[in-house]
Amino acid sequence: MSDAPVIVVGAGPVGLTAALLLARRGVGVLVLERHGSPYPLPRAVHLDDEVFRVLQAAGVADAVAARTRPMAGLRLLDGAHRVLAEFRRAPSAGANGWPQGSLVHQPDLEEELAAAVAATRAITVVRGAEVTALDQDGAGVDVTVLDRDSGVERSVRAPAVLGCDGANSTVRALVGASMRTLGRPDRWLVLDVRSADELPVWPGVHQVCDSRQPATFMPVTGGRYRWEGRLRSGETVEDATAPERLRRLLAPVDPARVEVLRAVEYIFRAQVADRWRVGRVLLAGDAAHLTPPFVGQGMGLGLRDVHQVVWKLADVLAGRAADSLLDTYQAEREPHARALIRVAQLLGALMTGGGLAGDVVRGRVLAVLRRIPAVARLATDSRTPPLRQGPLVDRRGRAGRRLAGTLIPQPDVVVEGRRCRLDDVLGDGDAELTRDLLVRRADGTEIRIEDPSGLLHRWIGSLAVVRIRPDRIVRSVRRGRGGRH
Ligand SMILES: Cc1cc2nc3c(=O)[nH]c(=O)nc-3n(C[C@H](O)[C@H](O)[C@H](O)COP(=O)(O)OP(=O)(O)OC[C@H]3O[C@@H](n4cnc5c(N)ncnc54)[C@H](O)[C@@H]3O)c2cc1C
Repeated sequence: MSDAPVIVVGAGPVGLTAALLLARRGVGVLVLERHGSPYPLPRAVHLDDEVFRVLQAAGVADAVAARTRPMAGLRLLDGAHRVLAEFRRAPSAGANGWPQGSLVHQPDLEEELAAAVAATRAITVVRGAEVTALDQDGAGVDVTVLDRDSGVERSVRAPAVLGCDGANSTVRALVGASMRTLGRPDRWLVLDVRSADELPVWPGVHQVCDSRQPATFMPVTGGRYRWEGRLRSGETVEDATAPERLRRLLAPVDPARVEVLRAVEYIFRAQVADRWRVGRVLLAGDAAHLTPPFVGQGMGLGLRDVHQVVWKLADVLAGRAADSLLDTYQAEREPHARALIRVAQLLGALMTGGGLAGDVVRGRVLAVLRRIPAVARLATDSRTPPLRQGPLVDRRGRAGRRLAGTLIPQPDVVVEGRRCRLDDVLGDGDAELTRDLLVRRADGTEIRIEDPSGLLHRWIGSLAVVRIRPDRIVRSVRRGRGGRH
């Protein structure tokens, strides 16, 4: 493996997570970040249980969990805020070992990631360092970095570059990739407020399906609350936050009870990059895809990206796999990004289109309600869709079709009398799980586990061995006796 560190461009949540995951695989990392300090304002407010497993792999899940709270679910409301449909999520840990949905203040998450990065010797973060040019040959990439304080440019060579530099990605432009647009951009007001007293609201996400004033609302953490409302044509943030409009948007909460932390316009986009890999340069997170935030999955997609690309990159750099392994990254991740973007667009259409509130008022409730559960069920089910048959997933046979390409569940297990989470037993590399609950790790370690909930027993059924990739996706299954694969 080359001694030069991999360069991660961007110290947002996706870049910092990528750095932590690389370091756990023994890969040195140089993170280059244009800004002098982290972005202080909240964007993401929701994390699902699969994403928590990525944070767990990066070593920060417990610290982040201490700063989140479980999300009660999703409610669809009409224009008069009557509940059209409600989809609950259990506050306790589910099949992935974490609550199905959690509410989070993005700066809290980034603070925990930054603290973990600072404590990791294999990672160096340079702030005020803007990447301005890339030049690659077969063996690596020369990265030109501008020191924003001194104005001096220097060149750094890396075996690979991960472009985690957000929606307006410089890396994407420098490698000649571009965004394909999947839908019309939409202007929305994002309003964050704080209240000293707890507001009397249901602790989940509310989507107001009213074509005249579609809106989203949710309590976050630490007395913070988020409203998002679509801006009408020509309307400014000032217009939308004028006293009468604000009163209607926040109803039934009295605007006098809250302190407005910020009111800003965001353009919600649905886009996917055409190429996620050009040679040794790879894109992840918002640099690779952008989704309207209605299902709270933009950052979640990015964290899943790096959970996958990092093990592939580490294997290629260590000479354990051919360079072509990196081509499977976009092939495996893009369908999921597109699927979630489609669900977000559907939910957006349900909220904004077709005069649904009018339909309800006119009594044509049934037609509306028939559409709602399907969309809302999709919106609350953010499971990564099963990967297709390919070089890294063997879905042949009935059991293969059932399990291969999906995430292994993560119950609590017991090892030598100690309770722990399954992923922590599986380790950072490939692993096998046998029917009699022996974990064989890539490093040769064998660990006997107990399964107090019985979930793993039921899941593995009569299979002899299940092979699991480092991103916890089932690679293949085998019937017969539980010998070595
Ligand atoms: C209103 C709103 C609500 C949202 N809600 C959710 C939600 O509930 N759940 C969810 O999962 N997601 C949500 N998202 C999306 C989420 O916030 C983003 O997907 C996430 O922040 C993207 O992370 P990232 O690390 O890819 O990019 P960013 O956080 O944008 O980080 C990119 C970093 O790269 C740096 N950079 C850029 N160019 C260069 C360069 N040339 N050189 C060096 N550094 C550079 C930038 O300064 C920045 O720090 C929401 C977004 C919005 C706007």
